[in-house]
Order: sequence, then C-alpha cells, then structure tokens
Amino acid sequence: GDFPIETDTIVIGAGPGGYVAAIRAAQLGQKVTVVEKGELGGVCLNVGCIPSKALINAAHKYENAKHSDEIGITAENVTVDFSKVQAWKQSVVKKLTGGVAGLLKGNKVEVVKGEAYFVDANTIRVMDEKSAQTYTFKNIIIATGSRPIELPTFKFSKRVLDSTGALNLPEIPKKLIVIGGGYIGSELGTAYANFGTEVTILEGADDILSGFEKQMTALVKKSLKKKGAKIVTKAMAKGVEEKEDGVVVTYEVNGKEEKVEADYVLVTVGRRPNTDEIGLEQVGVELTERGLIKVDKQCRTNIPNIYAIGDVVEGPPLAHKASYEGKIAAEAISGLPSEVDYLAIPAVCFTDPELATVGYTEEQAKAEGIEVTVGKFPFAANGRSLALNNSDGFLKLITRKEDGLVIGGQIAGPGASDMIAEIGLAIEAGVTAEDIAMTIHAHPTLGEITMEAAEVALGSPIHII
Ligand code: FAD
Repeated sequence: GDFPIETDTIVIGAGPGGYVAAIRAAQLGQKVTVVEKGELGGVCLNVGCIPSKALINAAHKYENAKHSDEIGITAENVTVDFSKVQAWKQSVVKKLTGGVAGLLKGNKVEVVKGEAYFVDANTIRVMDEKSAQTYTFKNIIIATGSRPIELPTFKFSKRVLDSTGALNLPEIPKKLIVIGGGYIGSELGTAYANFGTEVTILEGADDILSGFEKQMTALVKKSLKKKGAKIVTKAMAKGVEEKEDGVVVTYEVNGKEEKVEADYVLVTVGRRPNTDEIGLEQVGVELTERGLIKVDKQCRTNIPNIYAIGDVVEGPPLAHKASYEGKIAAEAISGLPSEVDYLAIPAVCFTDPELATVGYTEEQAKAEGIEVTVGKFPFAANGRSLALNNSDGFLKLITRKEDGLVIGGQIAGPGASDMIAEIGLAIEAGVTAEDIAMTIHAHPTLGEITMEAAEVALGSPIHII
C-alpha cells in the first residue's frame, strides 16, 4: 500500500457547503484537505444557482427588449445568439470557480482531485483515474451534495433532460415540457418562456411551488400564462417516446390520458443525496429512510469525528444553508460552541415575480399558537416599483402580536430575493415592527415597502388607506 498522508480535517466535496467549511476550518487553525471529484464550487457554481441565474437574466434582457412598448420603447429585430449566451454564462461560472480556487489557496487549504471513499472512521481512500492515496484525519466533513432523481420511465438522454442538460441546451427550444413544478422547474420554465419557448409544466400535485403561499404562486402562474406557458396540475407523467427531433410525453390527468409534443422534456422531480457510494456502511454512519445523514445541532453524525452538511443532511437543499452549516461544522471541530439555528433561513425562487420567504408564515405561526399581526403592503403603492414598470406583488411582514417582534416575512415582487435579507436580519437580531418603521429607508426604493409594511402592522401606514 501507499503511505498515508496525515491531516487534521478532511472535507469531502467542494460545493458551497464544503469549500466554505474548509476555509472556516483553516481560518481557525486546522490543517485542511478538501477532496473534490468534479469541479470546485459543486452543483451551485457549476450547474445550479449561478448558471441558472445567468440564464434567467439573459432571458429577462431579451423579454424586456421585446416587450417594452408599454413604456414607449420599441425594438425591432431583437435576436438571441444562444451560443453566445451560453459562452457568457460559462464565463460567469469560470470567474466564480476560479475565485474559489484562489480563496482555498489563500487560506492554505490543500485541494485534492479525486473520489473519496471511507475505509474507517479515521481513514479515506482517494481515487483518480491513475492512482489511489490514503489519508488519515482527526475529523472529516461530508459535503458530497445531491444529484437529480431519474425516473425509470424517463431515462435521461439527449432529449430527456435533467437540470444540467436544460442549462446547457445548444439552442432555444421551440417547445419544452417541464415535469415537476418545483423551484428548479418553475425557474427554468420561466427563463425559456421569456426566451420565447412554448413551455408546458406538468405538476403531479394540485399546485406548482408548493413551498410558497398560494397568494404568491398565483402571481407566478398568472405571469407564466401571460408568457404563453401552460400549467397542468394533478398531471401524472407516464412515459416518453423519443424521436429524432423531439419527444412525445404521455401523462394522465383526471383519469384521462393525454399526449404533448416538444423538442425536449426537462425532468425535475427532486434530488437525492450522494450518500450511497462513499463507503458510509464501513463506518456505520446513520442515515434516514431517504438516505440523508442524521446529524445533531453541530452537524455531527453518530460517529463523533464525522460531520455532514448541505444537501446530504435534512432541511431545504439550498446553497446558503449548506454554507451556513459548513461554518458551524468547522467551528464545532475547532472546539467552538457553535450550533445551527434555522429560524431565519430564507428560501427564494427566481421566477416572475421573484418569491422569497423567511421565518414564519402567518399559517405556521397560527399552527404554533403564536398570535400575529401581519403588515401587508402592495408593490403597486411604491414609487420605485411603478417607475420600474414592475409592480405586481406584495410584502407581508409577520410580527408577534404581544410585542411587535418580527418573526417572518414573505415577498412576491421584483427584488424580493434581495429584499428578504432585511427581514432575515430583523428576525436574527430581534427587531420589532417599530424598529423597521423608524429606520429611514431611502426614497424611492423597493426597500421602503418593508418599512411601509411595518407601518401597516403598527396600524398607521402613510401610503395606503
Ligand atoms: P454540492 O454543491 O452538490 O457539492 C458537492 C460536491 O461534492 C460536488 O462538487 C461533487 O462532485 C463532490 N463529491 C460528491 N461525492 C464525492 C466523493 N465521493 N469524493 C469527492 N467529491 C465528491 N440553491 C440556492 O440556494 N439558490 C439557488 O438559486 C439554487 N438554484 C439551483 C438551480 C439548479 C438548477 C440546481 C440543480 C440547484 C440549485 N440550488 C440552489 C441548490 C444548490 O445548488 C445546492 O443546494 C447546493 O449546491 C448544495 O451544496 P453542497 O455543498 O451540499 O453540495
């Protein structure tokens, strides 16, 4: 055998969970090695958050150019050079993954290319095409992420796409079927609809974007329909017939079998954790029924020196959650008393309009017996929003009735993804509606909507009756 290399902390996977954990552990004085079998940045930077947002932005620019006659702008012969869009999108990805490489190096984290596999609770083997190397460690953080679920009736191919395939299409499809109206399906469906694709979303449940309130998803559905998209709910996708230049998808709705044709079908019906091929059985790490790794509040598994973070553990599979847990795990390993607290973890959907939520919804508060006062304010009563010609939406500030403490917020509207941060901070810092109302927000900004909602909660709004 080879001579084992000794280190303090190993991180498996360099996604937003793993690379952040590695940097924080190094900052706290650990000798850290991160093992990555693919690309630095993981799903998020390479085939997730970042390329999808780049595509969504490009699609907005196109859609805006074509549909701004309302405000007196008419553009003719607006065209898309999709290979250039793709090249630009990849350049954004490259900048960021290069940035991660620089950050790891700057923090003296060793990066090893290869696939890690557990030998025992203090040893892994790392394999690449040519060789294998053994590493021993005091502590290890599993951050191997997740991959798309493949349905047996929809094997991925050139025309049956997972999210990665849908991000990397060679052309804008004329027609696209999306199976699964979760946030990935809805975001990519919206992007292609903005590019002019005829989109059909098939959703098995009775609504798309089930994680958000109906009032919010209703706005997304309205705008998708306006873009020419068709949304079929309670639709069971049954199978696909692949042709040379397209697909025919069969689905069942209301007991009737239907068929729909398109150039491509995107299947986004969930993701499964990468916990099945890393030798966890060798060390006895406990998993849930769904294959997620069980962890405590410090992200520690049942084996005291093995930690897990991000998409491989319970909770919303989101990049910022992975990074947050990465910091907690690295601090725990370094002997700090850090623990996770998910109270103020936001969730965002980059549809039209954007949706964002943090903390309690009205309904969740009620379910827990918390009496609330809700401050709701429409984007249509905000000057900036009207000046942007984008005023469909609302903000709901959820405050505790007894003392006005901000405990949650939901936003549907332009800029929701950025605006939600203020409410997250309010929850984290124990801010009241009065604090927000008395904070001077610059005029005219979308941020004023949060201030106005606080005024509504206090019962004395200025710009609404
Ligand atoms: P990952 O990012 O999955 O990284 C895991 C890494 O581990 C990978 O690089 C993998 O190669 C490596 N690995 C796996 N096994 C091994 C092994 N045995 N040895 C070595 N390396 C290994 N989240 C958001 O918050 N906002 C968004 O807007 C958003 N948009 C998304 C859009 C799409 C299309 C998709 C697919 C996802 C999106 N997500 C978004 C989710 C987000 O990408 C994930 O939650 C996040 O990447 C999880 O981070 P992670 O570090 O747990 O794992």
